[in-house]
Amino acid sequence: MLDPGRHELFRRLIEKSRRLVLTTHMNPDGDAIGSEIGLGRFLAAAGREVKIVNQEATPRNLTYLEEFGPSVEVYQPRDHDAELAAADLVVLLDNSAPDRLGRMEPVVRSLASKVLCIDHHPAQGTIWAHEILDETASATAAMVYELIVAAGHALDTGTAEALYAGLATDTGFFRFNSTRARAHEIAAALLHVGIEPARCFREIFERNSPAWTRLLGRALAGLRLDAGGRIVSVRVPRAVELECGAEGADTSEMTTPLLAIDGVQVALLFRELPDGRIKVSLRSKGNIDVYRLASEFGGGGHRNASGIVTDGRLDEIAEKVIARAADLLSASRGTHS
Ligand code: 5GP
Ligand code: MN
Repeated sequence: MLDPGRHELFRRLIEKSRRLVLTTHMNPDGDAIGSEIGLGRFLAAAGREVKIVNQEATPRNLTYLEEFGPSVEVYQPRDHDAELAAADLVVLLDNSAPDRLGRMEPVVRSLASKVLCIDHHPAQGTIWAHEILDETASATAAMVYELIVAAGHALDTGTAEALYAGLATDTGFFRFNSTRARAHEIAAALLHVGIEPARCFREIFERNSPAWTRLLGRALAGLRLDAGGRIVSVRVPRAVELECGAEGADTSEMTTPLLAIDGVQVALLFRELPDGRIKVSLRSKGNIDVYRLASEFGGGGHRNASGIVTDGRLDEIAEKVIARAADLLSASRGTHS
């Protein structure tokens, strides 16, 4: 639970702000979009002028959330720099790291004195004027829920749908260790408001393209085991992505069947991004901390789910990360075998 001072900070900032712009991290996920739409809809209902401006377009499987909230616009410096500068408050959701703002980093940084950051990721040296940070929260959407309710407001179904999507996706539909009792309590409250859990799952996870599924097959067929079967990894070269017709696909969910292999403790997916950089998705079971591993390569995330985006060649990065993952496992062997 957030301490009361934070609820007060939220209430005070919302009270005195007329124009707000909400934003989040690059490659926005369910919690990022769900938190933005949920908070945005609540603010609009409270009579505020509110806009959501993101580094890039909402991923296809999350666009259904856009029907519930204020419009989501893709950042264009020419249009949005002035709007950001004119806003009374900029709310940064599900991210506190400037470098995860992508193209929006310079402008949001320059406005740090009127940024309210609401996030549940581990933070290092934050720069924002107002911060509501809680590493123990299951999702940023859960924090937004607590803040709205503590401010004395009821949720409508649209707000609830968006916050449920954020909470459900960030907890892996209530299966990760980040699923605290409070996450189920909040989910129950959102169900009481009238959300449709089956729709949420269907929209987010059952709208893959045949091309994505073909790429999944190609990726899984090439899996490699290291550290006596405790590390599994796959590589997705851009050429394979193009062959499958799945250009620019979000591959991070492909780690799920990898981690499902018995005995595997760390799953790694290496992918060549369209701009030539390498994206690594890291997943782990139990106490194995892939956040620490990701941090070594300039990435971040959470203990059991992290990511890295870095320059380099696919195979070179893969070998380096696998070697460090093996070190991590041998260091923790005493407590885990
Ligand atoms: P995914 O593999 O699903 O893209 O990312 C997993 C987790 O790692 C997410 O919680 C996300 O916040 C974090 N993450 C992904 N990519 C990056 C990155 O490049 N930098 C940092 N700091 N975190 C990342
Ligand atoms: Mn999150």
